[in-house]
Amino acid sequence: MVVGAGPAGASLALLLARRGLPVDLIDACGHGGRPFRGEGLMPSGLAALAAMGLQPLPPAVAQRPLTAWSFFLDGQRLFEAAEPMGSPVPCTLIDQDSLLQELLAQAGRQPGFQFHEGQAATDLLRQDGRIAGVRLADGTALEADLVVACDGRESLLRRRAELTLESAPSPLDVLWFRLEPPGAEDLVHWLAGRFVTVVGAAGSYALFPSARGGVQLGWAMEPGRAAPSPTPASPGEWLALWARDAPQLLARLLRALAAASVQGPVRLPVRVGLCPRWQRPGLLLLGDAAHPMSPLRAQGINMALRDALVAAGQLAPALLEGGPAAIDAAAAAICAERLPEIRRIQQLQQEEARRADLLRRRHLLRSLLARSARWSGPLLERRWRASQRELRNGVAAIAPDL
Ligand SMILES: Cc1cc2nc3c(=O)[nH]c(=O)nc-3n(C[C@H](O)[C@H](O)[C@H](O)COP(=O)(O)OP(=O)(O)OC[C@H]3O[C@@H](n4cnc5c(N)ncnc54)[C@H](O)[C@@H]3O)c2cc1C
Repeated sequence: MVVGAGPAGASLALLLARRGLPVDLIDACGHGGRPFRGEGLMPSGLAALAAMGLQPLPPAVAQRPLTAWSFFLDGQRLFEAAEPMGSPVPCTLIDQDSLLQELLAQAGRQPGFQFHEGQAATDLLRQDGRIAGVRLADGTALEADLVVACDGRESLLRRRAELTLESAPSPLDVLWFRLEPPGAEDLVHWLAGRFVTVVGAAGSYALFPSARGGVQLGWAMEPGRAAPSPTPASPGEWLALWARDAPQLLARLLRALAAASVQGPVRLPVRVGLCPRWQRPGLLLLGDAAHPMSPLRAQGINMALRDALVAAGQLAPALLEGGPAAIDAAAAAICAERLPEIRRIQQLQQEEARRADLLRRRHLLRSLLARSARWSGPLLERRWRASQRELRNGVAAIAPDL
């Protein structure tokens, strides 16, 4: 049984169902119901999809390869790093809802798969010292040889199983906006497929062309702070705030954008942490439930897919032929195999966050770098590129799903 149909749960359910295992997949919300889902897939996540036999993705899954990463300080271009930066494929924006729909549609074609959509798991069932299933919000008890909790960063099942989450300080909270077409078309044209980061006196934000059309924009906030001060009271004031630190042409496009094209903000609190132990007898945590990821450099979906791939390979033989001891041993082996990559990626994200924070807070440093961008830019680009290798490609080798 898999609880949570995000990237970790939906892909694991598909992989297990493809191997002929009966799979109950439970999700609290109906799909398409979330206001925001991340879109960035790194080569590491695309490799996981390929290893699952899911590449190329069908045209129904909206996707858009990134062309470059551009950084602007105080309106001045610092550097631009073109994709694919030495990786076999470029980082690609993918409409997560349509990706999940595709995973669920493929799983739905397997005889043993059952999707309990719109049903929240509210507790764990226990028998003879093992977790033996879950209770649903409507009171139904669903039994299973193994519960795989993929219920996200606030995981209820993690708390019910009393598995400790070692929380790291959150680097930021995000205020999320969508700039909708047709108004945002000129902006999409200016972006030309780039992921653009703007840092200035007013704060910092990133924008990129959404795989679904239009533009996504995330405003970074120091955690715990209510909003930028003074807080913009209308879309027009947000547009003016973003324009303040933007390079000239972007500033002009933002000021010209109709307020009606701006959707948001949606506040997305960021939680970061790691469980040193992912399993109890009869239970395994995967994805954000085991290791809530920061949004920095688009890692969480990728790590969730890679967790699922490793989990399917280890669990399938144990579930098909082994008893409880074999299942629990497989769960422990999955945790041992995945922990080193997750630790390293979270460490690299923290380093990235520290660099971003330094630029946000240190006005003098920012202004010095902006004024000397012609020579400091190439130097910083070289260092930044080197720091991205593992964040892009992952740390561990992954094997195809057989
Ligand atoms: C602002 C922001 C931007 C991000 N952008 C990116 C990005 O571009 N690229 C990237 O790789 N990562 C990104 N991430 C991280 C990424 O979203 C997560 O790491 C990823 O979604 C984790 O996948 P998951 O399947 O483990 O959990 P989730 O995607 O959180 O899925 C959990 C599922 O469990 C269900 N659920 C929860 N509780 C219950 C319950 N009790 N019963 C039943 N179902 C339940 C939920 O409905 C949900 O469908 C971003 C994160 C944030 C906060």
